[in-house]
Amino acid sequence: MNNKEIIGLTANHVANTYGRFPVAMVKGKGTRVWDADGREYLDFTSGLAVCNLGHCHPKVVAAIKAQAETLIHISNLYHIGPQSELAKLLTENSFANKVFFCNSGAEANEASIKLARKYFSVKGESRFQIISMEKSFHGRTMATLAATGQKKFQAGFEPLLEKFHYVPFNDVEAVRKAVTGSTAAVMVEPIQGEGGVNVPSDSFLGELKALCKEAGILLIFDEVQVGMGRTGTLFAYENYGVVPDIMSLAKGLAGGVAIGAMLATDEVASAFTPGTHASTFGGNPLATAAGLAALKAIKEEGVLENCRKSGEYLVKKLNELKGVFPFIKEIRGKGLIIGAELDEGIKGGDIVKECLSRGLLINCVGDKTLRFIPALIVTKEDIDMMTVTLKEVLEGIRK
Ligand SMILES: *Cc1c(COP(=O)(O)O)cnc(C)c1O
Repeated sequence: MNNKEIIGLTANHVANTYGRFPVAMVKGKGTRVWDADGREYLDFTSGLAVCNLGHCHPKVVAAIKAQAETLIHISNLYHIGPQSELAKLLTENSFANKVFFCNSGAEANEASIKLARKYFSVKGESRFQIISMEKSFHGRTMATLAATGQKKFQAGFEPLLEKFHYVPFNDVEAVRKAVTGSTAAVMVEPIQGEGGVNVPSDSFLGELKALCKEAGILLIFDEVQVGMGRTGTLFAYENYGVVPDIMSLAKGLAGGVAIGAMLATDEVASAFTPGTHASTFGGNPLATAAGLAALKAIKEEGVLENCRKSGEYLVKKLNELKGVFPFIKEIRGKGLIIGAELDEGIKGGDIVKECLSRGLLINCVGDKTLRFIPALIVTKEDIDMMTVTLKEVLEGIRK
């Protein structure tokens, strides 16, 4: 099938929930993808921060092949080797002691929210309210939609799940005021991704932690987007020296395969006991074998170091563009999640479209922030090539 044929089938048969570009991607390798008409693209979207090792990393592919030929699925009625090994590696490399596996970011956050409530319910405390941030994004299920502090995602799905309360990001005093006797947790993305690549102030996360401790409530970090090396450390919280009680992971966790995970300390995780939470596909052999291969590759192949180095270079190149094009307001981010905020009136969507037509994939969040989330193996040459294309496009929109 070519682009046109696939687009036709999608229009006729797939639920119309995505505003898609008129191309169908059929192949990927490293930082490149190809569409069904054979055209090559430089990918600075990485399947939305999923393919952190690039497309079809050989070790992830080999792990998937080997596991597919051995055992694809069995239920959690039984023990699962790769699941236990991935949990061991995740806990050895994080603050956490226990992992609950599921299949997506929203599910990981559902588990976080449920665990926070259960934790207090087991202790006999009536705490169930969750404080989350304005401009946050936590997923599309009913609980995570309620946690998401953006009206545009919630419209039409009311009434929302109760007991979620939103405060401005980077405003610890607002959090303090919002805490009540029924607050269970504060839920926050260490860097807001979907909401516009919003970075925390130097003190925000630390003050949040202190506040949670003082109030006896839990701190939940949603690292679905910024975990798994994206910020140059394995987990984003390491950059800020602030440890949460619960952390959710998904996107980059299994090198492109669908997976989610909720990590917690022993003390908090012990509120989940047999029968209290579950997922049919959660922690299945195929996804966890892929996750194990991906995590090992991140640790063993200098991926974090490349992320930090390439991230700095990308910021430098984008700042050079900012010097030439005054309608670029700010470059911000950490590691390889970088945003370029545009002036009001400059349409980020048009820039993205124009880049696509020149063989470059980037995306735009919150209408006016271009988001750069290339694979963590991206090279200086890739960044140079991206910058040249982007510059041409920006020249075209400069009046
Ligand atoms: C993408 C994302 C989610 C939702 O993940 P899904 O796998 O789409 O359910 C949740 N939180 C953050 C921070 C995300 O970026």
